[in-house]
Amino acid sequence: MKIKTSFSNLNSRRVCQKCGCLLARSQKGDLCPACQDKELYRQVKEFILQNDVTEVQVADQFDIPLSKVREWIREGYIEYRRNSW
Ligand SMILES: [Zn+2]
Repeated sequence: MKIKTSFSNLNSRRVCQKCGCLLARSQKGDLCPACQDKELYRQVKEFILQNDVTEVQVADQFDIPLSKVREWIREGYIEYRRNSW
């Protein structure tokens, strides 16, 4: 963890726990949207690898738009990374 964390307690500004960028007041959780996305992707990928599921089931399971799942697959995220993680 970065030292920035103690800083953020003093002035009540919140920073992303992963990349340290400043979070919007309305942001839920401890991660910025970009990191939330990556985290979600990581979980989705694991889910796909461990279960023989369709993209519809994935979208359902994680409550994300089907278009998002398709986008990840189309862009090759899920297939390419299979070997490099
Ligand atoms: Zn972040």
